Amino acid sequence: MAAKERLVVVGNGMAGCRAVQEVLKRDPDRYQITIFGAEPRVNYDRIMLSPVLAGEKAFADIVLNDEAWYRDNAITLHAGRAVEAIDRAARVVRAVDGTLAAYDRLILATGSDPIRLPLPGADLPGVVTFRDLDDVEAMITAARPGAKAVVIGGGLLGIEAAYGLSKRGMSATVVHLLDVLMERQLDASAGFLLTEALAQKGVETVLEAQSEEIEGRDGRVSGLRLKDGRVLPCDLLVMAVGIRPAAGLAKAAGLEVNRGVVVDDTLRTSDPAIWAIGECVEHRGQCYGLVAPIWEMCRTLGEALTDGSSTYQGSSLSTRLKVSGVDVFSAGKHTGGADCEDIVFRDAGGAFTSASCWKAARSPARSSSAMRPTAAGTST
Ligand SMILES: Cc1cc2nc3c(=O)[nH]c(=O)nc-3n(C[C@H](O)[C@H](O)[C@H](O)COP(=O)(O)OP(=O)(O)OC[C@H]3O[C@@H](n4cnc5c(N)ncnc54)[C@H](O)[C@@H]3O)c2cc1C
Repeated sequence: MAAKERLVVVGNGMAGCRAVQEVLKRDPDRYQITIFGAEPRVNYDRIMLSPVLAGEKAFADIVLNDEAWYRDNAITLHAGRAVEAIDRAARVVRAVDGTLAAYDRLILATGSDPIRLPLPGADLPGVVTFRDLDDVEAMITAARPGAKAVVIGGGLLGIEAAYGLSKRGMSATVVHLLDVLMERQLDASAGFLLTEALAQKGVETVLEAQSEEIEGRDGRVSGLRLKDGRVLPCDLLVMAVGIRPAAGLAKAAGLEVNRGVVVDDTLRTSDPAIWAIGECVEHRGQCYGLVAPIWEMCRTLGEALTDGSSTYQGSSLSTRLKVSGVDVFSAGKHTGGADCEDIVFRDAGGAFTSASCWKAARSPARSSSAMRPTAAGTST
């Protein structure tokens, strides 16, 4: 019997494991599969870290593929071993602990790194980002009832972090640079409704606030000083200010990298033996930070690695905020522009209003965002 081709995956996250599932679905016996993961655990649903932080779910509830899945599919998992180099000539990857794996085909699925603002004090204990289970555990450890948390960043992740910490009994404040929360998804009135709804949940919002310095006391974070001189005292500071494709490994290996690892419509990189998927990727100039595009990429890659012919054409986006009792949904093109018109529905009669806004490009892009607090008196 001919030896199986060796498929090595770097990244045991949402894209890496889904890509393997797509391959197994089409041709379960074709490859001998090895997965490297920097995190010391099995594959889990990263999206659900927010409910874990809020105490609404446990880690066991969000595992996507447990140890039995790797075993049953004869997949070798090197968990807790980040790959630090790719030798493209020899077709071998090397992990930080020296583990080597030879490949015939390699998938890069390294995701994103959270951005840390280079503020004075950013390296103080008690300053965290929100990306993986370690971050969530650090936040839960610091979350004493009555203690104060400040979250820099009023996007989806920052709001979910603040909500989760407030559910853990902390008093949480979101500090946002702009005058509207989730400004990439919401217009000003929907943003206002969201601010009000969060206040009802005990999450305060400070808008148009520029962070200047993180203050410390006794070797730990004690507050955030804003440019206007205000100091927001805190025992925990979360930076949720964006992500950057984790493309350093690909770059060091000499692959074409712009903002992310550049791929063609079959998700192939500039090396014909290497594919890339997920948030580390740049496809037609676009990098994504949501899972829906990733599922589409994984289907195409599953085809590509089993001799199929489908191509990936790019994705349109939708987002839902995971704060229970506050329904925020957004889809499509958010930027508007001369070729778009806004259509706004507003119910001013309820105790809360609801508003939605379409930026309906005459052709073909279309977007909608809707904000509907589900409190008593709400009508849609
Ligand atoms: C708290 C939170 C809430 C979110 N909520 C939503 C949501 O509601 N809707 C939505 O669509 N998206 C949401 N997202 C985004 C979504 O989780 C990501 O789009 C998705 O996880 C990206 O998948 P990925 O596989 O590209 O990256 P990841 O899931 O991050 O996986 C990458 C993996 O690769 C590992 N890795 C990196 N470098 C190496 C290396 N050199 N060697 C080995 N392993 C390596 C990383 O440790 C990581 O485990 C959320 C994200 C977070 C953090």
